Amino acid sequence: MSSIPGAVAVLPERTSVLEDAHAQLAVAVADLGYDSGTHAMLKQSRRELTVSIPLRRDDGSTEVLTGYRVQHNISRGPAKGGLRYSPHVTLDEVRALAMWMTWKCALLDVPYGGAKGGVTVDPRTYSTLELERITRRYTSEILPIIGPHQDIPAPDVGTDEQTMAWMMDTYSVSQGHTVPGVVTGKPLSLGGSLGRASATSRGVVHIARAALLSVGIDMPGSTAAVQGFGKVGRDAAHFLADDGSQVIAVSDQFGAIHNPSGIDIRALGHHVDRTGSVVGFDGADEFDSDGLLELEVDVLVPAAIEGVIHSGNAERLRARVVVEGANGPTSRDADTILRSNGVLVAPDILANAGGVIVSYFEWAQANQSYRWEARDVEARLEERMLAAWRSVSDHAHTHDITLRAAATRLAVARVTEAHRLRGLYP
Ligand code: GLU
Repeated sequence: MSSIPGAVAVLPERTSVLEDAHAQLAVAVADLGYDSGTHAMLKQSRRELTVSIPLRRDDGSTEVLTGYRVQHNISRGPAKGGLRYSPHVTLDEVRALAMWMTWKCALLDVPYGGAKGGVTVDPRTYSTLELERITRRYTSEILPIIGPHQDIPAPDVGTDEQTMAWMMDTYSVSQGHTVPGVVTGKPLSLGGSLGRASATSRGVVHIARAALLSVGIDMPGSTAAVQGFGKVGRDAAHFLADDGSQVIAVSDQFGAIHNPSGIDIRALGHHVDRTGSVVGFDGADEFDSDGLLELEVDVLVPAAIEGVIHSGNAERLRARVVVEGANGPTSRDADTILRSNGVLVAPDILANAGGVIVSYFEWAQANQSYRWEARDVEARLEERMLAAWRSVSDHAHTHDITLRAAATRLAVARVTEAHRLRGLYP
């Protein structure tokens, strides 16, 4: 993972995602009429582990990184959630992301609780060998709390299937036998699932199609802008274009490009494979990264990191529908502004759930020692995404609330029901 010489990373404003996550929960708890004890149980992480990761660098020097694994809730099954490598990782961020995983798994009815991991590191400034050492040491440090029936990591921002292969190997060596079910998002040759790599993007586009239809717009002939051209944004742009949407703007951490008559996404993919960035693609003009969010499009897909739509720019958004490919891209204040401006927001815990759904399929395949066909994976993914869309949008209409409030309420009710049935021990 190397950086592009001379390129300047465009970093958005950071907001307190944990405060936003807590506020969303508080609304759901109040609407559901739960008591303060139940609220505290839902708010507090079950387990939080902070670890030091001493690293021998390639030049022989030593440094110490910090990593986290937070298991927010395990009432409905093993903890589940990605591992993030980013210089912005903090314990509070990991707490928020773990809480959102709990709601996401409950909403999509996959039998997991929620977790998240993170290491405060910029992976672009480390060699592959250094990243392997970081990953193996981090895995060793969190070993006591992970396992195929305890907590199952997966890729997230800054990590990929190679990271999962190293984690799987490190865990397996500690057990003395191969344990494919300890992580998901593995390479295919190590028991990864067909369709996992593109699952989040496929799910985003299923929700985009449904959300557009709900406001009377067909996907073919619509216009789209996609922020982020990584694990989620790149395939989302492809699938949108395949479905007949005109993707008129795309960005990555180095800049944005714009072509009002539509970008050739396949040609852009080749350019990115060659150069490492969307910048410099000759089928579009260079554009202002912040301006991408403010384009007049039918669907805007923020697919990078959290907090990019905030009180400072929400008023200027002109998209008809926002489909959250990233986790937490819209701040709480921005949510209120978008609602009053009539922008429909399909929330992260619904829109980007395709990844964890196919993670569940991968885990089920590991447990069965059996590989499913790609078409089965894709059909079951679509079925679950659309079922969740219907229940969230019906609930939102019935109660005249946002899709986010409806999704959170439905998820929180499911987690609370599991907790109530299991009871308190002792
Ligand atoms: N990191 C992804 C997410 O935020 C996938 C998590 C998983 O598959 O466990 O949903």
